[in-house]
Order: sequence, then C-alpha cells, then structure tokens
Amino acid sequence: MASICTAPVYKMEALNNLFIELTAKNCNQRCNCCFIKFPMSKMVKDFIPEEKIREALEDTKNENLYCIYLTGAEPMTHPDFNSILRTCLKRCNVSICTNGSFLNEKKIRFLSKVEGEGNNQIFLQLSLTHFNEQENDRAKYRGNFRQTIFALKTLSRYNFNSVLTVQNFYSLDKAEIENNFNRIFNEQQISNTDIKVINSYNGEEMNDISVAGNTDCMHGRCLSNDGIYACPFLAGDFRGRVGSSFKNFSDSFRAETNFCSVCGKNSGKMFSIG
Ligand code: SF4
Ligand code: SF4
Repeated sequence: MASICTAPVYKMEALNNLFIELTAKNCNQRCNCCFIKFPMSKMVKDFIPEEKIREALEDTKNENLYCIYLTGAEPMTHPDFNSILRTCLKRCNVSICTNGSFLNEKKIRFLSKVEGEGNNQIFLQLSLTHFNEQENDRAKYRGNFRQTIFALKTLSRYNFNSVLTVQNFYSLDKAEIENNFNRIFNEQQISNTDIKVINSYNGEEMNDISVAGNTDCMHGRCLSNDGIYACPFLAGDFRGRVGSSFKNFSDSFRAETNFCSVCGKNSGKMFSIG
C-alpha cells in the first residue's frame, strides 16, 4: 500500500517578502558549515541578469512588498550589485544577506549614500555560529568572527539596522548565546543589531514537522535565475520550485524537504525581518 504524505501544505498569505538569489554558486569564502556544493572553478557565470529582476518587480507591482532580500551564495559578488540594489530600493526596503567580507568602511559609506537617495531602508543580515572566536572560525573560516564584528560595528556607526543570525551549529543554550553576544555588543559599542538564534541544518533527515509555525514560505517567494521557489533555502531544488515567473506561480507548497523539518523546529521565519 502506498504511504500517505503527511507533510503540511503551506499557503502563502501575502507576498510581502521577495527573496532574490543573485548567484547560487559564487562566494568568496568556503565555510566548513556551508551546505552549498561549490564547483571546482572559483568563478561561475550564474549571476541573475538585472533585466530578470526588473521583470519580476513589474510582475509583482500590485503586491504589497515590505522587503526585498538580496541573497546568494554571496550576493555582493554580483558584478551589477550596486545597480540592482538601487533598482530594488526604489520599490521597498532591501535586506542584504551577506558574509560581511565586502563591508569595509568605503562600501558602508556607499550604502549609506544610496539609502539617503530615497525613503526606503537598507538592512544587513550577517551570521556567526558561536560567540567564541576560535569556535566560530572553526565552523566558518579563519577571520570570519573579527570580520563580522568589525562590519557590525561600522554599520552601527552609520546607523544601519542589522540582524546577526546565529546558526546554532554547536547546539548551545539559546539564552547563553544571546547573553554572550549582548556582552560583546556592549564591549564593541554595537547597537541597532538584533540577534536571531536559529537551529542550523546539519543534513538531518526529516521526521516531524508538526511544530511548524510562521514560515518564510507563508509570506514570500524566491526569484532565482531559473524560476520561482517557495523560499531561499530551496532555491535551485526542484522540490521547491513553484513556477517559472511571477506571471504564473503557485501560492501553495507542500513542506516535505529536510530543510522544512529544520524550519519547523525553528517555528518562525528564518530569513524575513518583516
Ligand atoms: S559565506 Fe555563506 S555562501 Fe559563502 S561559503 Fe560561507 S556559508 Fe557558504
Ligand atoms: S524550508 Fe521552511 S520556508 Fe522553505 S518551504 Fe520549507 S517550510 Fe517553507
């Protein structure tokens, strides 16, 4: 007898969040904990054309977008990143999900200038795995902790609102993580930065997603170079594909991947800020 699929079907309530995967395979780093399977070549020409983004913005012009998220691999490796940022910012707020290694003072000053050209806000989303530098860099790459703290400190000086996502790679107590990062933020004079602790995906098999709550796929969709996906975690995965363009895409999705299981355990939006 065929088994019955009990995975929940999530219906998108509103398209408030538009995730745009600027590149699937380009990143200037190689984190130990990264789940992307990078090709041998360092430079892959898989950048989404800006034209495709303009088309998506036109197709969604009647949607009440709160925020556009520029994601990757590393979105700031896109050769037209600055132009794409300006295009998206004309529509609504923009959140840049980055490893932070391009966020030197010059780039942050540029972001501040671009933000000042209109009324919408730029948010930055960076991530770490541990409040201890050595433990963090062991899971990510050497220098990641210092680079991220430096970027958050500079962003805070320029009055940006940032989110530090802590992928709980070491399965620590959530309060311990928050307390330690709050201490570091005080020491480093970092303000305007929210801390979000999430369970990290470690390749575990899906077993129970009954705890699923307010997920990203209920409030958004992800545009990638080859179509529309239920959420950024599933971009490029045929199981997450919900259409070819925003002219014609599904607002329902059966959450049956291992990522959905992790999402369920987090019982909340992992990417979205609004
Ligand atoms: S910075 Fe992000 S995309 Fe790049 S290797 Fe690390 S986890 Fe993967
Ligand atoms: S991973 Fe989470 S946000 Fe993505 S489709 Fe599955 S349940 Fe939805």
